[in-house]
Amino acid sequence: MTSAPARVATLHHRFADALPELAAPAVAAETPEPQLVALNEPLARELGLDPDLLRTPEGLGLLTGTHAPEGATPVAQAYAGHQFGGFRQLGDGRAMLLGELVDDAGRVRDLHLKGSGRTPFARNGDGLAALGPMLRELIVSESMHALGVPTTRALSVVATGRAVQRDEPLPGAVLARVASSHLRVGTVQLARALDDPDLLRRVADLAIERHHPEAADDPEPYLALYRAVIAAQANLVAEWMQLGFVHGVLNTDNVLLSGEAIDYGPCAFLDAFDPTAVFSSIDGEGRYAYRNQPPITEWNLARLGEAMLPLLHEQQDAAIELATDALGTFRPAFAAARAEAYRAKLGLPGRRDADLLVDQLLDLMAATPVDHTSFWRRLADAVRGDREGVRGVVLDLQGLDCWLDRWLNLGPDARAMDAVNPLYIPRNHLVEEALDAAESEGDLGPLEQLLDAVRSPYVARPGLERYAEPAPEGFGRYVTFCGT
Ligand code: AMP
Ligand code: MG
Repeated sequence: MTSAPARVATLHHRFADALPELAAPAVAAETPEPQLVALNEPLARELGLDPDLLRTPEGLGLLTGTHAPEGATPVAQAYAGHQFGGFRQLGDGRAMLLGELVDDAGRVRDLHLKGSGRTPFARNGDGLAALGPMLRELIVSESMHALGVPTTRALSVVATGRAVQRDEPLPGAVLARVASSHLRVGTVQLARALDDPDLLRRVADLAIERHHPEAADDPEPYLALYRAVIAAQANLVAEWMQLGFVHGVLNTDNVLLSGEAIDYGPCAFLDAFDPTAVFSSIDGEGRYAYRNQPPITEWNLARLGEAMLPLLHEQQDAAIELATDALGTFRPAFAAARAEAYRAKLGLPGRRDADLLVDQLLDLMAATPVDHTSFWRRLADAVRGDREGVRGVVLDLQGLDCWLDRWLNLGPDARAMDAVNPLYIPRNHLVEEALDAAESEGDLGPLEQLLDAVRSPYVARPGLERYAEPAPEGFGRYVTFCGT
């Protein structure tokens, strides 16, 4: 790798310095013909990066890792993880942390690449990524951001000019990803598995420094850190539930201590409201089904608590008691975040008397089942005097009318509903259409239109009608894939 002057970006290497045991030097694969497919200009500016410079050969070198700026120390991060319940030592097999940047608000952000070549953790993998899945990560993370959900972001997608062999040869690409950090539940688990108390402490200290600085002032800083991660994850999963989002692979290596969502692989938004919905091709048991996300998040947080035990108390029994008590805050925190989210969706923010109505409505929705996103959006029409939109899609009309009467009696605010129930989400058939056009025809039009729609999800815009419509009849069951 050649170094370029620090003209494009100044990168720090705090992770590599603080946790050298978890940082393996990484060298990016050469890119025969790099081509910028997508650049997130607003995000670039937020990071203090000049979009015009990012478009130069030097900039593309940064965004693919082939020309790291002078002073940068690109590393693949080691971590562990419970994958579908089984514990394994892992690490970035096809990714690297280029380093940290300080954004225009003074926050430290990771600049990270995915699909940048094999690393010491690659095992049998080729270290590469295909264009379609990297564009999916861009679309879904931009949508999440616009919906106000804490998330990692996509800065760019660069096609490499090299084919990637999957079932068939596909165009290869590198995603540049930005995160508050890439410290995972699995990072803590690895430090614990290595039986190195000093390393475990440094991981926790870095998490406190970067995400939960208030914990440093607590008399029990590590317990405060654990509680803060629990609260952040409870909030994240409540957001997913109210939006009808299925992450698809909630292994502990895909759960960040920051509470941002990461790894938009086999993810999907619900079309029909089916609490048992699973999209991932490898999740036969439905471990990560829509309705299982809250308990699975709690399970993942229990694994975090186990890994943190030596930090919580010298005596294991006392440590277990502290961790168990802290984990007990997950359910009430999730219930509170969920209740507040649904009160807002029902146009009754802050109103506890709305809570009884939520599960009754969800039962009516599931019994039909209705298109999740458009049903919530149309509900506001009933406040405006038009019930037919929702009546036209629910089977149990008597049950619905009865429910509508009780709800309307509480005086919901239709405008408040429109501000939280999106019109435009990355619907599965639209994502497939956009990826297919980009991958097989090099046509970026559908991708750009979809990005434009989901970046402003709440306000109806003429010309975007088809982006608000349910999947066409013949779309069939949607299946998504990991590691693509
Ligand atoms: P993910 O499901 O994307 O979170 O990936 C799980 C693990 O597999 C991580 O350690 C990845 O770095 C690794 N991995 C996934 N795909 C590849 C690949 N093509 N080459 C090398 N490692 C990979
Ligand atoms: Mg992952």
